[in-house]
Amino acid sequence: MDIEKVVKEFLSSLRITEDGSLLYGDERMVFTNSVLMSIAFVAAPYERFGDTMTAIYRRSIEKYGRKTAEENEHLGAKNALEHLLKFFAALGWGRPEITEFSESRVSFKVYSSLYGEEAGNYLRFKGKEPPASCPFGYAVEGVLNYFAEKERKPSFISQEVKCGAKGDEFCEFIVFR
Ligand SMILES: [Zn+2]
Repeated sequence: MDIEKVVKEFLSSLRITEDGSLLYGDERMVFTNSVLMSIAFVAAPYERFGDTMTAIYRRSIEKYGRKTAEENEHLGAKNALEHLLKFFAALGWGRPEITEFSESRVSFKVYSSLYGEEAGNYLRFKGKEPPASCPFGYAVEGVLNYFAEKERKPSFISQEVKCGAKGDEFCEFIVFR
């Protein structure tokens, strides 16, 4: 993936309304810095609510993945997945790379995951050992499960087996059924 091209294309397609909204298609976007984003979205909720957050995130982010799959159904599962990961890359969340795509198993890596880096730093600063912290796998689950349901096949579940938050060189996810 040519990450620079992806980000520049995304930026040039943003529309600015007279009242100051940034729109990407119909979606309102916002620029924020990585510390704020990761603390608000990942680190602070985990710190406060622990593993309870995992179930909540899994459900809501999986649902988001399904929604994007529905919008891109015509692309098929693999391209719809690439489309979603490209969007995450355009947002500056790290460079994704799909390393395996088969009928029952998908693996992918994310280099320089924003969540991994910042949530890891934050939790270490607080004296805690960071867990695998990145939500990408749940969104991918959603995409694959949308197509699995259409085909009446078993659903997928994701695991983040490596994470920058834990000191790994990159984040790695396996999504399988
Ligand atoms: Zn990670």
